[in-house]
Amino acid sequence: MCQRRVWLDHYEETPTDLPPIGVIQQGIEHEARLLQATAPHVVTIPVNSWQQGVETTQTLLRQTRVEVIDGAYLEIPYQDAIIRGRLDRLQKLQHRYQVIEIKNHSRLQPTDLIQMDLYLWMLDQISDRSVAGEFWLGRNGTILQRVSHEYDEQRLMTALHQVLVLLGQREAPDVLLKQHCKLCPWHDPCTETASNQLHLTLLTGMRKDTLQDFQRQGITSLQQIVMMLPADLQKIKGIKSNALALHTQARAWVAGHPVWYRPLPTICLQGGWMFDIETDPYTGVVWCIGWCDDTGKSEIALVAPHISQPTPFTLLTGETITLVPDADRAWETFALGVIGDNRPIFHWTNFDATMLRKTAPEVVRDWVGHRLYDLHQIVNQTVKFPVKSTSIKAIAGYLQFRYAVYEAWDAAFNDYQLWLSRDDLTAITRACAYQRDDVLALKVVWQWLTESQSDPTHLT
Ligand code: SF4
Repeated sequence: MCQRRVWLDHYEETPTDLPPIGVIQQGIEHEARLLQATAPHVVTIPVNSWQQGVETTQTLLRQTRVEVIDGAYLEIPYQDAIIRGRLDRLQKLQHRYQVIEIKNHSRLQPTDLIQMDLYLWMLDQISDRSVAGEFWLGRNGTILQRVSHEYDEQRLMTALHQVLVLLGQREAPDVLLKQHCKLCPWHDPCTETASNQLHLTLLTGMRKDTLQDFQRQGITSLQQIVMMLPADLQKIKGIKSNALALHTQARAWVAGHPVWYRPLPTICLQGGWMFDIETDPYTGVVWCIGWCDDTGKSEIALVAPHISQPTPFTLLTGETITLVPDADRAWETFALGVIGDNRPIFHWTNFDATMLRKTAPEVVRDWVGHRLYDLHQIVNQTVKFPVKSTSIKAIAGYLQFRYAVYEAWDAAFNDYQLWLSRDDLTAITRACAYQRDDVLALKVVWQWLTESQSDPTHLT
């Protein structure tokens, strides 16, 4: 997925101070639950080093009474390198080995296929049995689908060759910040490198061919873009009506502060409400709605299928939310909460408004549908911040807003599931803190926009 990561993983010491990332924690828990559920009688063998893990695995492979090894260590030499793999599960079936890889997603990624190719190829090198692989796709300790793997040696060799060529380079490949970077241990150092270099990758929404065209023209830093006119930028591939926005973004990075380029729509000056929804990533159904007024007074409606009517519920923090039996009641509770006036209701991106239009009861759409305003779009069309992303977390974070527990919707969903399955009050208190912070973050951004508007120098 990233050449730079391959190089850094090999030559640099991996940062240990990693941020807690919900999706990774969720994957670890999912895997542990599945392994336990499908092999209840486990004998744990502690190992103190990689080498000991490899030796223990080899010993177990020779023992006929051992049929399943979870967390098997494999290692083989390859050209000048040593290749290592840690398998979720290795099963001995009559005359062959089967590798099980557990994935916490519903669709296989190209990298999953190469990972399995690699494990099968390694096993083939060290044993005389035939080998096969199977993916278990699922979530929350449940298998949703089993997929047999089709081994492709050409695909594997191409990937291995690319790695060896990469590791022969003296310098790390250029930094290229993308969505997947937030899951990477090198996220902070890479972002710092890009910031120090005022690298073009800092611009959001940059297409690959746009980046290549910039490089072809010898434009490699944001300082060069600032020196150009927006009209000149339109000669670059993929840049048309967004030239001014892009130019302003470059100015914000070079200046180190937000830069305005259009006045704020007057609707923002009326004050109003902020709202945000959380949905099940697998079914798309709303499980939580949060909202607050422009003073930050917030409320939450949380779907609890075991109750029959809206009920107050106290979290561990002493805060009270409303439990509702289903998504429709959540929408209605939200609408009743904001119906006292006719002021705008701000949300971040089109997602919340689309969900309201498509899934909320008709009465809710009638009450509040005409009052929705996308604050994300308003920000994008008026002011640029020196941050890589336009997510609410990034913009509010720039404005010094800090989430109390975590910033990950998937961690909140995971906590919600824990509460549903185990009545875990700590978990639902965390999930609600996240929901509340999401609307408070909106309020912080809205407040900054309106206060900056009253500063007469803001458009200079
Ligand atoms: S943060 Fe992004 S660019 Fe840096 S190594 Fe990780 S994936 Fe690559």
